[in-house]
Amino acid sequence: MADSSLLSQCDCGAVAGPLGVCVDYYHAILAEEQADPRMYRWHAPVVCAYLLQHPSRAHEKYLDGQFRQLQLYLDKGLDALLSVAAHQVAWNKRGAGSSYDMAPLAAYAPLPSGGPPRHFRATFSGLPVRDGSFVADGHPAYGHHIEAIAEATVESWRAVRT
Ligand SMILES: [Zn+2]
Repeated sequence: MADSSLLSQCDCGAVAGPLGVCVDYYHAILAEEQADPRMYRWHAPVVCAYLLQHPSRAHEKYLDGQFRQLQLYLDKGLDALLSVAAHQVAWNKRGAGSSYDMAPLAAYAPLPSGGPPRHFRATFSGLPVRDGSFVADGHPAYGHHIEAIAEATVESWRAVRT
């Protein structure tokens, strides 16, 4: 991104943090989690929440599945989401195509039309970074921050409907 100065505002409505706007945080997370298997456990909610907060960077046809994955994560926890993701990988390997297998996600609300929301109460550029790390305060603390972003994402998208 050309403009990630301290004063810039992200397209999700967030104010930039010390690392820049959300995309700068997102890339830093992706880089750090590659070398940290415990941190990588939150990869799926990180990707889903980032794309749902910045849908202009996403493939529109996947956003509905990503919205449902976040709801499953908040409803049943990270292990349940990881199990659905593993199921998804197996399903794709059987040659069923590249779209999401919606069966485990069918119970959850579809993505409302009329988005994207203009504001989220928790954002990527608001994530704490210490000594260049997102997990300097421990993995559980990082997980709580990601969960808060996931909650904020689902909450704002649900509000789009009304
Ligand atoms: Zn943003």
